[in-house]
Amino acid sequence: MIVTMSVKATEKEIKDVIKKVEGEGYHTQLFQGEKKAVIHVWGVTDKERLMRKIESLSGVEKLIPILQPFKLASREFHPDDTVVSVDGRTIGGRELAIITGPCAVESESILLEIADVVKQAGAKFLRGGVFKPRTSPYSFQGLREKGLEILARVREKTGLLVVTEVMSEVDVPLVAQYVDILQIGARNMQNFALLRTVGRFPKPVLLKRGMSATMEEWLMAAEYILSEGNSRVILCERGIRTFESYTRNTLDISAVPVVNRLSHLPIIIDPSHSSGDWQYVDALSRAGIAAGADGLIIEVHPNPAEALSDGKQSLKPRRFCQLMQELKEIARAVGRQI
Ligand code: PEP
Ligand code: MN
Repeated sequence: MIVTMSVKATEKEIKDVIKKVEGEGYHTQLFQGEKKAVIHVWGVTDKERLMRKIESLSGVEKLIPILQPFKLASREFHPDDTVVSVDGRTIGGRELAIITGPCAVESESILLEIADVVKQAGAKFLRGGVFKPRTSPYSFQGLREKGLEILARVREKTGLLVVTEVMSEVDVPLVAQYVDILQIGARNMQNFALLRTVGRFPKPVLLKRGMSATMEEWLMAAEYILSEGNSRVILCERGIRTFESYTRNTLDISAVPVVNRLSHLPIIIDPSHSSGDWQYVDALSRAGIAAGADGLIIEVHPNPAEALSDGKQSLKPRRFCQLMQELKEIARAVGRQI
């Protein structure tokens, strides 16, 4: 719910409203505009009771209930686009966020080789998994802490900001020490304990859509993170399961305009996991940018045939650089830049 205070409301009246709302067990955040104060209230379970309690308090102008089930994530709550700032860079503004790297961190030399090329091509974020959610327990599971150390060293050498997936609550403090953005993978989109935990850390969270999740379920997952006080959430559409089998998943391009209408959060596209095939990554990347996405996650590997995971969908560095040239043109055409 949003409580707007009248232009003449005094500091004491504003404080009294906050006290009353918090006394009912809800969270508040005060936005002091130039003319009037606005109080955001969330976690409301009994809207009618709260309205009865505060509508007659002095200084209150009006109460605006938020109709969507996701409150903090909704555009009703926050009409302007959210621009997530990460160490001097942004996601959600005019500049597109190109997040790229190998599916998994395999060695420092391979990561550095990729990082140098993608940086030259204009990427600002390097991504590599060190805790890998593999279908088989016998597949490569990631380098864990050793991989985090590699990410940190390559960050130091290149200035690229680093992103990695965290799969378990217990690993969040460790991973947060090393990386700039915490990724929640598709398989963990509804791991509510994990969502709450990353919501309490001062790091942006890249939240992938579950492979069978509706957009509403996905936005509710974002709500878990936001409701813990972390406002830096970036959504990532990575393809959903359909009956189609020529691609690994089906990129739901409609998620871009729908989420942009429903939510203020930035949304990026992952053409690599959507298609599962490097041959389609270019087309899906172009489509994502044209549809209004705020960025892309693209998997790149110098030797896809030897990659320890997701080689089939990884672009070779040269192909990635060509794609970046094309994407710059498309970005310009839709009023964005790379
Ligand atoms: C990944 O990003 O490497 C990954 C495992 O993605 P997803 O969670 O979308 O399957
Ligand atoms: Mn992958």
